[in-house]
Amino acid sequence: METLTISGLSKTYTNGVQALSNVSLTIPVGMFGLLGPNGAGKSTFMRTIATLQEPDKGTIILGETDVLKNKHQVRKKLGYLPQEFGVYPRVSADVLLNHLAVLKGITNKKERTEIVKALLYKTNLYEKRKKNLGSYSGGMKQRFGIAQALLLNPTLLIVDEPTAGLDPAERNRFHNLLNELSAATIVILSTHIVEDVKELCTSMAIICNGKVLLTGNPLQAIEDIKGKIFSKVIKKSQHETYNEQYTIIADRLFQGNTVIHIFSDGDPGNGFKPVEADLSDVYFSQIFGQFTSVKKQY
Ligand code: ADP
Repeated sequence: METLTISGLSKTYTNGVQALSNVSLTIPVGMFGLLGPNGAGKSTFMRTIATLQEPDKGTIILGETDVLKNKHQVRKKLGYLPQEFGVYPRVSADVLLNHLAVLKGITNKKERTEIVKALLYKTNLYEKRKKNLGSYSGGMKQRFGIAQALLLNPTLLIVDEPTAGLDPAERNRFHNLLNELSAATIVILSTHIVEDVKELCTSMAIICNGKVLLTGNPLQAIEDIKGKIFSKVIKKSQHETYNEQYTIIADRLFQGNTVIHIFSDGDPGNGFKPVEADLSDVYFSQIFGQFTSVKKQY
């Protein structure tokens, strides 16, 4: 099975923003979560791998193929679902998927009919295939987006922030679909929802300010900070004082008081209690120090 190897990827936009800074990642078949706050560089990274924009530096190798030097060849093996996937509201799923299949070069009618039908089944849209896309829910539109991304049976599927605006049931169905696909495909999922990565991904990277802060298995990353996360209920007015003394990685209001989480190598004493670490503690302990204003709301 193929692996995607990214080495030294950098990109600075003409306005001077460095969106990617020497990013190197190895991404195997399965679900790979790309986690980072808004502006971290996730979309830039995804668009670059999807051959939609050029980096300033770096290489992307899919299996044996140099992606940046063989864009046409790679596009045949690549599916991409952008953050904003626009559909034509007055056209049915069946008609639009057929049309997109023609554009992607599936010109044989019999073959096309079979592929379209199979994809509509796979994405659970077959029953509603004659309905106009304008009548689809957010989740159905996202599943249609996946159907079009799968037209060429890609070995690499790139999905940018797919669950924004989906209700829990739709999100669940969408996750199941991605999970099923990831058995034989490299699926890169960009998100700022930490739980999605924990539930779905066997490997991940946390990026911030265009840099990779951590990469590995999510459960291993939680294991690595085990025993280092402590919690305490404090008064709202004490927040400033605690903030000066400790590295607060999360806070939330609880019945008028504030519950804080801190990262500490040893027992900090002072009434702090050890708590079970979660991926959000991994995430916020990593990006804290990059953006002091980012705090977890949990
Ligand atoms: P994310 O997807 O993690 O939110 P992006 O890759 O969209 O991050 O953006 C990374 C940084 O690059 C941000 O500071 C953003 O404002 C900037 N950026 C993104 N696209 C462009 C562009 N076309 N021109 C200039 N700056 C951009």
